[in-house]
Amino acid sequence: MGDYQRMKIPKPLQNLIDHLESLPGIGPKTAQRLAFNLLFFPEDNIKNFAKALLEIKTKLSLCETCKNITDSSICSICSDESKNHSLIAVVSSPLDVVALQKADFKGVYHVLHGVIDPLNGYGPEDIFIKELIFRIQDSTIDNFEIIMATNTSMEGESTALYIQKELKNISGKNIKVTRIARGLPVGGDIEFADNITLSQALSGRSEI
Ligand SMILES: [Zn+2]
Repeated sequence: MGDYQRMKIPKPLQNLIDHLESLPGIGPKTAQRLAFNLLFFPEDNIKNFAKALLEIKTKLSLCETCKNITDSSICSICSDESKNHSLIAVVSSPLDVVALQKADFKGVYHVLHGVIDPLNGYGPEDIFIKELIFRIQDSTIDNFEIIMATNTSMEGESTALYIQKELKNISGKNIKVTRIARGLPVGGDIEFADNITLSQALSGRSEI
């Protein structure tokens, strides 16, 4: 039981503390400190903060093509004509798109929103794999390079392997499947890799 719980905190404040504490990386002490800080924010700031929180639910959705987070039906990357649309990096999270964009990746993306992780109950049908297959099948483009840019963890590797096999079953398209590799430590997260490491990993990709 944290100190604050013994202090008889008014309900609205306790409510806020509980919500903050439910966020990843926020412990009881930090939640308490943040809540007390927020108490002294001007009302307008609080209103804008609450509005921003709500809008991530009401104004954002997933891109119909790549499943990245967007505020329109097709995201700004998928509608970017300067991008190479025959080069698709398959990533597990929207944060990986941010990292690869910073590394100046020239292609487009497909966001899986997870990896295959049977121990935690995630199978191939729980992430956007079939959407990738349909996307390629239905495309007017015939020649693709698909870069498997999932993390180098065991789950990331087995997800890459599973998708590679699915891609091989697509007929009528010429698909080269490559794996992002060099420079990334084993078990490494794409999201946390620096730009240079990511660029090297992209240019050092090998066919699988
Ligand atoms: Zn998109």
